[in-house]
Amino acid sequence: MKEKIVILGAGESGLGTAILAKKQGLNVFVSEQGAINATTKKTFDELDVVWEEGMHSFSKMLDANWIMKSPGIPSHAPIVSQLKLIKIPVISEIEFAARYTSATLIGVTGSNGKTTTSLLTHHILVEAGFDVGLAGNIGNSFAREVAENDHEYYVLEISSFQLDDIHEFTPHIGVITNVTPDHLDRYDQDFNNYLNSKLRITKNQNQRDFLIFNSDDPILKPVVKESLTEAKLHGFGFEASGLNKTHYTSNKITIETEKEKTMINTLEFPLSGRHNLLNAMAASTIASLLQISKTTIRESLLNFKGAPHRLEPVLKIQNISYINDSKATNINSVFYALESMKSSTVWIVGGVDKGNDYEVLLPLVREKVKGIVCLGIDNHKLLEVFGPVIDIIVETQSMSEAVKIAHKIAQKDDQVLLSPACASFDLFKNYEDRGNQFKEAVRNL
Ligand code: ADP
Repeated sequence: MKEKIVILGAGESGLGTAILAKKQGLNVFVSEQGAINATTKKTFDELDVVWEEGMHSFSKMLDANWIMKSPGIPSHAPIVSQLKLIKIPVISEIEFAARYTSATLIGVTGSNGKTTTSLLTHHILVEAGFDVGLAGNIGNSFAREVAENDHEYYVLEISSFQLDDIHEFTPHIGVITNVTPDHLDRYDQDFNNYLNSKLRITKNQNQRDFLIFNSDDPILKPVVKESLTEAKLHGFGFEASGLNKTHYTSNKITIETEKEKTMINTLEFPLSGRHNLLNAMAASTIASLLQISKTTIRESLLNFKGAPHRLEPVLKIQNISYINDSKATNINSVFYALESMKSSTVWIVGGVDKGNDYEVLLPLVREKVKGIVCLGIDNHKLLEVFGPVIDIIVETQSMSEAVKIAHKIAQKDDQVLLSPACASFDLFKNYEDRGNQFKEAVRNL
């Protein structure tokens, strides 16, 4: 009898898993509690995938060999608990996809910097002539990639939710960019649960594998050492120490291993901010472990085009620079954004607050910010924290209004930064929509 996989969720991971499972000759049943979009339904029908929407029919899942739970579904959702009770193994999409490829995997996780580090790594590997795909939280799901283009290497951007349901998934090179509180609603408000979930990236690694981690991160450094991983540890950061490390001084990234020392000049690296140097250190370390030459690494760093919505320069108008950092949905990323501002800044902030502690931003705000434009339905917390320290603080409820007001406050040589620290769904579809509306509003000034 054919093996059967039940797929919970019909988003990108569910669709990719269905495509790969069908290709592998499995019986597939997709169950989506909400509505399935029309193109996805069409693909399911073409592939002969059985699907349901608007419910989860437990009775149709009892004969499954595996359940693939999409990352958006919490592990305490009733259907998942029921399935666990009858002991059907629950796996994530990356676990499933990894079974059907012998590619070398590079897995990038962390609270911030995953996309930038993954894009940069992929870019260097492409420039070095590798047959490499980019997947996971970015672009196509890993499962779809394995089904449609089997590359020799994959750079995977991996969220903690994807790691929660791995069993044997093993990246040859695992990366943890940093760990700061995020998504605690999915981890019983316990930071340790979230942290442990990130550390799962190394749980199956052996002595031939590498774990690259941010050793400047005060939380990560001790726990990586205590994690009993068998992987070779390689720290990166401005303060990195130890036998295998990557650090940065006077425009050079230095990668040191037991065998060699490689120095890469980064003088014209186009991305701004210390956080992007950390991302560059991580990506260069991966490339160097894969024996890519320092010349290729340097040239690839220099010609890298940053990802949209991440400290993305938009326009300069009357010598005022407009910067779109719509992807900054937590305090840590705003911290780095403000830190990288080179002149007096008008800061557009706000949206759906996920429990932010704004106090940590106060020193930087005092130093760099001349005016704040709050953009959200509920701005009371921003007014409370920043009202006493900033003279100009204005409330707005649309992007065009926010940009017009920011333009009025800013003077020649200032910067206008959209870096919201919050989710976007009070006024926008998602962070991309918010960033695009910002760019549009700036162009209309
Ligand atoms: P992720 O994929 O983990 O969300 P991104 O690369 O998309 O990370 O960046 C998200 C936000 O965090 C952006 O505002 C970006 O400027 C900021 N950021 C990028 N890299 C880092 C880092 N290493 N540490 C802190 N913030 C970062």
